[in-house]
Amino acid sequence: MKKNTENKDIKFILEAMAKSIDSPPTVLFPNSFQVLISTILSARTKDVSTARASKKLFACFPDAESLSKAKLSKVKQLVKGCGFYNEKAKNIINSAKIIIKEYNGQVPSKTTELVKLPGVGKKTAACVRCYAFGLDDICVDTHVHRISNRLGLVNTKEPEQTQKELKKTIPKKYWKQINHAMVKFGQKVCLPRKPRCGQCPVAKECDYFGKLG
Ligand code: SF4
Repeated sequence: MKKNTENKDIKFILEAMAKSIDSPPTVLFPNSFQVLISTILSARTKDVSTARASKKLFACFPDAESLSKAKLSKVKQLVKGCGFYNEKAKNIINSAKIIIKEYNGQVPSKTTELVKLPGVGKKTAACVRCYAFGLDDICVDTHVHRISNRLGLVNTKEPEQTQKELKKTIPKKYWKQINHAMVKFGQKVCLPRKPRCGQCPVAKECDYFGKLG
């Protein structure tokens, strides 16, 4: 396996992470609209709250057509469990309207088009590309950003910068595995405050661990 420019064996890292979290391969969700809306709702919100709000929302408004016609007050009430729900309620209705008007009801798959939708930044766009369309992209959330920096894959301050740097050094065939592997690994092993380095299967590749002495 060719190592990247930071001399990290990304194949080993991703395989070891996947094994340690005992996680099945990345699942492709068939409904691109619901992937998009759930991802917008997930910003600064716990997974469990996002899942609950999404379930309630999609029970009433399962597609772009219905959500584009929804009343703001009703949508706010349904997604109330999410952080910044007032803003998110407006954004998801407006995104649905644009999808109906400009994309014939179909979620676009190009980053340049996705980021024009309200509430969609590069992270959300990359998640939608990976999980809804199975395209090669790197969705960098807080776990991917933190773990990539600890490992020494990148040396960055912001997630967007992390995405850019990871894309430069990691072969495309691994891109879509990164979010799936690192999110679960970040919840179970490489925790934000107290990483469990003593039980970490990728410690030998990790700069943070190397500096512990
Ligand atoms: S060795 Fe520690 S800091 Fe490095 S990836 Fe593992 S848990 Fe995270």
